[in-house]
Amino acid sequence: MLTITPIPALDSNYFWVIRPSLNSRNVFVVDPGDTTPVIDHLTSHQLALAAILITHRHRDHTQGIAGLVERWPVPVYGPDSELVPQITHKVGDGDLLELEGIAFNIIGVPGHTWEHIAYFAPSTDDIPDPILFCGDALFAGGCGRRFDGTAEIMWDSLQQLAALPDDTQIYCAHEYTQANLAFAIAVEPDNQELGARFEQVKHIRAQNGITLPSNMLLEKRTNPFLRCQQPGIKIFAEVKTHKTLITPAEVFGALRSIKDTWPS
Ligand SMILES: [Zn+2]
Repeated sequence: MLTITPIPALDSNYFWVIRPSLNSRNVFVVDPGDTTPVIDHLTSHQLALAAILITHRHRDHTQGIAGLVERWPVPVYGPDSELVPQITHKVGDGDLLELEGIAFNIIGVPGHTWEHIAYFAPSTDDIPDPILFCGDALFAGGCGRRFDGTAEIMWDSLQQLAALPDDTQIYCAHEYTQANLAFAIAVEPDNQELGARFEQVKHIRAQNGITLPSNMLLEKRTNPFLRCQQPGIKIFAEVKTHKTLITPAEVFGALRSIKDTWPS
């Protein structure tokens, strides 16, 4: 049976440790933005690093690679970016990556950064629900900032993720859920499922708990960045930006800009 464990690190990051089988001590780490917390975790649990998976170029996702491969000379999978020369095995949209019995589909999700990819594995006998490692593309209750490309490109990326199965377990890279949901409630004050989720998340965070993984059905019902077709969200974005917004991608672009300067 596959297990997934977070290493909380830096300000708000989670480095995810994937252990494909309890019969083996080999694990993969997703987006190690620091070395020491990973080494501490693996040594204290007597685990051995077998591969590193990278979603995008930002340093809080990559800075741990050099120190880890010094200790465990393992393959580093990730997107084609000259800013991450430590990547030894480049993967891109449409590729299939098989690692110790797990078949990861690589999905290109440009927008937060142009090279951003996500790793999706469908359910199997060892994986009860499908799993998604999406870095900073999609967050619980929100999405990453748009640094590269147009709003339409990023909206298309998020739509690709939204098309994954409803029970997909979402392992994103930051604990931003509470602030994201506070914004979401300002956008959709009448969404009752969202209100209930916010209360639940506040309770978890008050005890310093982790709000992940999320799942795709919950995101489609409560994450405004996946709901830009909703008339209420379109109106919110139009009122705030004083613009007429025609397409869901335009609504998405406006919503992302509003969130960029939203007081948190
Ligand atoms: Zn990032």
